[in-house]
Amino acid sequence: MKTVDILIVGAGITGITAASILAREKNKTVLIIEKRHHIGGNCYDCFNEDGILIHLYGPHIFHTQHKDVWDYLSQFTDWLDYVHHVKAFVDGKYISFPININTFEQLFEKSFTKDDVLAYLEQKKIDLPEIKNAEDMVISRMGKTIYDKFFKNYTRKQWGVDAKDLAPEITERIPIRFDRDERFFTDPYQGMPEKGYTELFKAMLDHENIQVITGKDYRDIKDQVKFDKMIYTGPVDEFFDYKYGYLPYRGINFSFKTYDQENCLPVAVVNYPNDHDYTRITEFKHMTFQQHYKTCLCYEYPAPAKAEKDEPVASYPVLDKKSLANYLKYKNETNKLINVDFIGRLGEFKYLNMDACVKNAIDLCG
Ligand code: FAD
Ligand code: UDP
Repeated sequence: MKTVDILIVGAGITGITAASILAREKNKTVLIIEKRHHIGGNCYDCFNEDGILIHLYGPHIFHTQHKDVWDYLSQFTDWLDYVHHVKAFVDGKYISFPININTFEQLFEKSFTKDDVLAYLEQKKIDLPEIKNAEDMVISRMGKTIYDKFFKNYTRKQWGVDAKDLAPEITERIPIRFDRDERFFTDPYQGMPEKGYTELFKAMLDHENIQVITGKDYRDIKDQVKFDKMIYTGPVDEFFDYKYGYLPYRGINFSFKTYDQENCLPVAVVNYPNDHDYTRITEFKHMTFQQHYKTCLCYEYPAPAKAEKDEPVASYPVLDKKSLANYLKYKNETNKLINVDFIGRLGEFKYLNMDACVKNAIDLCG
């Protein structure tokens, strides 16, 4: 029987941050068990067969408003000064996204001032008594033309249902700007770990109090480990043997292609609302600043929601009335367990950005 203070299930950014804090600041012994054959969870990056650094589970850009989060990670990495930019491919053109003054100029091929944009919106936006869904959120702010060109089909592709059937929060993430700010994120701290996420995570785990086992499901070895407390970052429904049903996720399949040219796209990410089966393409070299005579693109194909027991690998939780009601039942169960904490995107059944995962781990363990 192995004895540790803390058993952590899952070596994603949540579990790794928790381990690092507990080992370094609380002098606890920690064992992390990870069922994939690598650390990092969905933030894992690696070199492909041509030596190009790729993000195996889709593009990950670090951005945060929280100085404590930035400072914590900065102990283990320097940062590349990358500021994320996205274009949407609309009407055969690469157009600035999120919507800002430049977007209007590129779309309508004439010059716009801030007042012109405000006048356009005043005329086009649809006044609604209540914002009931993801479509309302856009048409009430930007009008139907912008909705049809940038949001309608992208949302349908991404989620497999009409924006009318989705919560307003889904499209609320995308702002409209009345200036020419082209940054996708406006957080004061943003960048890419200088040597990649996996190297950052290795540095965080490099401590005598931390032991990591990969390629093992915690259920296969939990009876061989004696621990005071467990931090569980796996799927909460799985922990309780799905007694209240499966929590659904919208999956994404990634296809990577290497091209014999230095660059293909004008920016790191291009969204394709109206063309192709994929939602977006990422060209990693824009983010990693890697010099290479080839380039690698990642195409994202959304897949059906997982209604049955399945691996919520790279995926978004489908937050509808039924799933949220079921999640609450699980949450009640978690509150009854005094020696297990549930955190992370799977443990909390939430869409969490990386910084929120780090923040939650700091708040729990710090
Ligand atoms: P995970 O990374 O999922 O880690 C959980 C780990 O637990 C996994 O490795 C899993 O294998 C393991 N596990 C599960 N069950 C068991 C078990 N029974 N036994 C052992 N191990 C188990 N966030 C950003 O901030 N910026 C971005 O640009 C960004 N881009 C994204 C793009 C995509 C396509 C997606 C889907 C998400 C993106 N995110 C982004 C969100 C980011 O991926 C998450 O915030 C982060 O990965 C969550 O980390 P986690 O540790 O909570 O979960
Ligand atoms: N969205 C869209 N068109 C775009 C980009 C986003 O309609 O070009 C919508 C879509 O519904 C998506 C949501 O806005 O799910 C949030 O977009 P974001 O890029 O924040 O999604 P992420 O991939 O980061 O979850």
